[in-house]
Amino acid sequence: MPGTELFGDEERKEVMDVLNTGVLFRYNHDAQRQGIWKAKEFEAEIAKFTGAKHALAVSSGSTAVSSMLAACGVGYGDHVIVPPFTFVATIEAVLFAGAIPVFAEIDETLCLSAEGIRAAITPKTKAVLLVHMCGASADLDGILAVCKEKNVMLIEDTAQALGATYKGKHLGLFGKMGSFSFDFFKINTCGEGGVIISDDEQLIKTAEHLSDHGHNHEGDNRGMEPHHIMGTNFRIGEINAAIGLAQARKLPFIISQQRKHKAIIQERLSKIPGLAFRKQCDDAGDSATFFHLLLPDEATARATFKNMGVAGIGGGYWYDNMYHYIKQWSHVKELKMPFRMVAHELGLPQDLKTMTFPQSDAVMCRLISFNIRVTWTEAELDALLTKLEGAIVSAMKPVTA
Ligand SMILES: *Cc1c(COP(=O)(O)O)cnc(C)c1O
Repeated sequence: MPGTELFGDEERKEVMDVLNTGVLFRYNHDAQRQGIWKAKEFEAEIAKFTGAKHALAVSSGSTAVSSMLAACGVGYGDHVIVPPFTFVATIEAVLFAGAIPVFAEIDETLCLSAEGIRAAITPKTKAVLLVHMCGASADLDGILAVCKEKNVMLIEDTAQALGATYKGKHLGLFGKMGSFSFDFFKINTCGEGGVIISDDEQLIKTAEHLSDHGHNHEGDNRGMEPHHIMGTNFRIGEINAAIGLAQARKLPFIISQQRKHKAIIQERLSKIPGLAFRKQCDDAGDSATFFHLLLPDEATARATFKNMGVAGIGGGYWYDNMYHYIKQWSHVKELKMPFRMVAHELGLPQDLKTMTFPQSDAVMCRLISFNIRVTWTEAELDALLTKLEGAIVSAMKPVTA
């Protein structure tokens, strides 16, 4: 992934600033820290980059989603509409909140569709937890219209789409709150970390207090800070934040390189008859972290993926992935947890063990994705495309005896 590709002296310098003071904690210790506030700087960098009024860094993308749900008041028994194609963390966060996930169909945007959401709304629906999957936007116009009409809030799990925009505005700013992940597999990495953005100061403050046992972070006497709510520890540490800061500064370069490479790929692969791509809601706003192929049918997709493996081209066939698509989520379907949750008590409105997702399956079984690298040379990309064209064309050729 781009962040790991570009890891270097900039990250080391920011980490050394922290190691030199020894203040690994993001709050307090004003004298000892000698003006070094990496978490605060990291937040400011993400706010500046996305145009958000407020940003809060936390310990992971998962705890960022949990913090958003909590700050938005999503809890006991609330229905939350979620996609069947996402990293499973999205669903776990809903369950950990004591809320109930309700699955809706995705379409060729690889995200929840407005019609899918409409069909899944129940009288108990409190929020849509929209995932902008694989680096690009969902159909926000359609989805915002349904949310408004049905009076449910939109919350954006933007873990995979930092840097992507829709009609010029950064993803994560369309709902009440949006979150990003900085784990090792995302556009930027800081080891483990997450950032929440919002234009709503009160929501961000609630998330901030929640992420640190209710502390309101006023003054420099931690033990005497007032507490309006309880919370837990979802804090980011200064070392992780320092790395995140260095990585975030590289975002404009990363996104522009990825987009350049995507354009080259798209140009070349458009010449293959019968091959389609992910449906883009705003093609220019794609962070271009992945390139997505939609083959004509499942058999051709499987054959292409096999050919890609033989040719040494990395890529993902999400339909079979254990952590990203509901088809393989037996643990979710059976609510397997070491403790009793609200969802066990109240039950799910959908029978996930028998439920099918025909529209989502029809997209997922044809989908192959591969990472767009930042550091490709033109020659490397050209060689890869030649191999890829071969892998696709030979899979699509009708079998002749
Ligand atoms: C990665 C990811 C998360 C979780 O982020 P972590 O930093 O790994 O906890 C949540 N949602 C989605 C869609 C993700 O891709």
